[in-house]
Amino acid sequence: MEPHIRSDQDCHNALDQYTLELIGKLTGDPPREKGQVPTGAVKKELSQLVEKACKKNLTGPIISLFQELLKQRLAGNSIRDFGLTKMDLCNLALKHQQIDEHMVSLGGRLTQALPIAGKSNARVEEYLARKDTEAPSGIELWPQIQENGERIRTKLNMSTNEWGSYKGQIRNCINTAEELAELIDLPAEAVASIGRVTKNFRMRLTPYYSSLIMPGNINDPVMLQSVPTGEMVDNAGIEIPPVAADHSPARLIDQFYPRVVTIKATNMCAMYCTHCLRIAHIGRKDKTYSWEAYGEALEYIRNNENIRDILVTGGDAFVLPNSILKWLLAQLDDIDHVKVKRLGTRIPVTAPMRIDDELLDIIEESNDRKPIRVVTQINTAQEITPLSRDAYRRLSKRSFTILNQAVLLKGINDSRVKMWKLCETIHEAYVRPYYIFNCSYRNPQFKHFRVPLEVGRDIVESMYGNISGDAIPRYIATAGGKIPLHRSNVISFEDNEYILRKPWSDTEVSYPDADPDTYKTDSFAFATYQS
Ligand SMILES: *Cc1c(COP(=O)(O)O)cnc(C)c1O
Ligand code: SF4
Repeated sequence: MEPHIRSDQDCHNALDQYTLELIGKLTGDPPREKGQVPTGAVKKELSQLVEKACKKNLTGPIISLFQELLKQRLAGNSIRDFGLTKMDLCNLALKHQQIDEHMVSLGGRLTQALPIAGKSNARVEEYLARKDTEAPSGIELWPQIQENGERIRTKLNMSTNEWGSYKGQIRNCINTAEELAELIDLPAEAVASIGRVTKNFRMRLTPYYSSLIMPGNINDPVMLQSVPTGEMVDNAGIEIPPVAADHSPARLIDQFYPRVVTIKATNMCAMYCTHCLRIAHIGRKDKTYSWEAYGEALEYIRNNENIRDILVTGGDAFVLPNSILKWLLAQLDDIDHVKVKRLGTRIPVTAPMRIDDELLDIIEESNDRKPIRVVTQINTAQEITPLSRDAYRRLSKRSFTILNQAVLLKGINDSRVKMWKLCETIHEAYVRPYYIFNCSYRNPQFKHFRVPLEVGRDIVESMYGNISGDAIPRYIATAGGKIPLHRSNVISFEDNEYILRKPWSDTEVSYPDADPDTYKTDSFAFATYQS
């Protein structure tokens, strides 16, 4: 040990408060009761720790030694029992500080940082224990999904080539209750219930998406999203509320905002969601749109210079043939005031085979001209399989970014564990959580899926401080535009000082505001040198 510290004075000059307190605690006389002399084994173990702490150029052994000394002290033993002096401890503490790149002190790390880190672990303990059983991802379920897929493929008489191609998936879609009952074990009443709804509402599952449904789980979250139940017509009858005309200033266009518009470029999806907010646009029949319709939509955008961001959606933008997508994106890129674009699609989870090289080339080509984001919808971790993850990985290499808009749905993702797992799983699949929508009251068919607003606030707020910041979505109500539902963490304001709430621990912290007078002055930085 190099003797940097020789006196109490040196100690006080070189070490911080936390370390001095720690050393004080270790060197104060312990309340020794007779007969409590450390055993030979303990002494030997300790001398090994001392040797490591002294010889190695590592901080870990020093921490371990001090942790053991604290334990020994609690047992009534003294550092003298191990042949150590106060100066030895001071010098080891100094060594710790000198090794650490950021000069973190031994006391700071041992008595502050390590207990704080340990305590914060408690916040995620329950999640970690439950996430893989309560909300398994499609990657964890992959062996079972593959088995389901093989069963479904054989029943549908599909070749492996057909199964692996987008065209094959669409050709073999499951549209009726009877077809579904052939592939998935369902109670007879459930089949009748589905039949009752599908007379009036769309149902369509790709064979791939139906392979994500786990046999034996009566309310499987993937099935709930894709197979409609009788509640839909019981809630609100068979009439679909008409499209609100007041947001469509031009053919195919929806506009809520001055700078962003959507083009509803198709009314088709590879899978029809049981909670589709666009149910009125989806209609009852697939339609192909005319060049005139696209032309008029583009004309509206061309004539409105305020518009900078175009969201190509539907339906599902990836249902559009590559040739139309390529043409549409080129047209948009050609408009000076259009600066950024988005494509709205759920196909990477409903039919990931669609993401072929030709499509990726089209996206990259357009992204090179002006940034293009892919906006997707994933509601459960179960929808992320090795295949969909790979589709997102390839998309993320060719586009600006991929954003997820999830819908908060009862029984599907309405718990902390399920939603945290969703956000972490998609984050690991190259997708950023963007929005979580509270399921709208506007389509009364979906009443049975609605979740109280406050439940969603609790779920989203609980993510702060516990999962990566860029994996935390914003919570939104749609009511003629998107209304943020974020809970306020500003408690009060007095004497230019805020009281803020830490969402992860519900503790309060004071936060002085910028000085208002300093903020008001124009004379700052280089301007102070103006003659
Ligand atoms: C969601 C939506 C947008 C985009 O809103 P952002 O907050 O920018 O994501 C634009 N127009 C319509 C009609 C929408 O529904
Ligand atoms: S993918 Fe979107 S538009 Fe299509 S059915 Fe689902 S929610 Fe509706």
